[in-house]
Amino acid sequence: MGVPIRLAGVIRESIVDGPGWRLVVFGQGCPHHCEGCQNPQTHDFDGGYISNTDNIIAAVKENPMLSGVTFSGGDPFVQAKEFAQLGREIHALGLNVVTFSGYTIEQLMAGMEKHEGWKDLLEQTDILIDGKFILAQKSLNVKFRGSKNQRIIDPKASMEQGKAVEIEL
Ligand code: SF4
Repeated sequence: MGVPIRLAGVIRESIVDGPGWRLVVFGQGCPHHCEGCQNPQTHDFDGGYISNTDNIIAAVKENPMLSGVTFSGGDPFVQAKEFAQLGREIHALGLNVVTFSGYTIEQLMAGMEKHEGWKDLLEQTDILIDGKFILAQKSLNVKFRGSKNQRIIDPKASMEQGKAVEIEL
């Protein structure tokens, strides 16, 4: 059974938010307030609309072209439990999960015992794009990212090794 999840929106097909064709889920609510954020309407924790994880899974099943699903925002770690459940169902369909977060992997690992769902969401994430958007480091030449400080991370290897493990896509 699905769980309620607060969203800013869904894009059914994207090729710029991770490898291959992807459905993108924008979670509502973001604590980071990066200068130059492209999606300021996603910051309000009471904004957006309430959907259900079942609606997202139904949309995923409608598109056989998808390689995976991307969790963006907002910050998906604001609703880590809900996104982790979604991740489990997406993996059960044989698809992969990319998660964007304004938190760094170091911050997420340091906070995962304290914040419910953070560890679970890291475990359900195949590729993490981490860190705040920094306007002064904005670049069009960093794949799938907005600014040069943001990294492409393997979260499971990072947790095993206790340090950020970057990967090339
Ligand atoms: S983390 Fe993303 S959504 Fe949040 S303020 Fe930064 S750029 Fe905007």
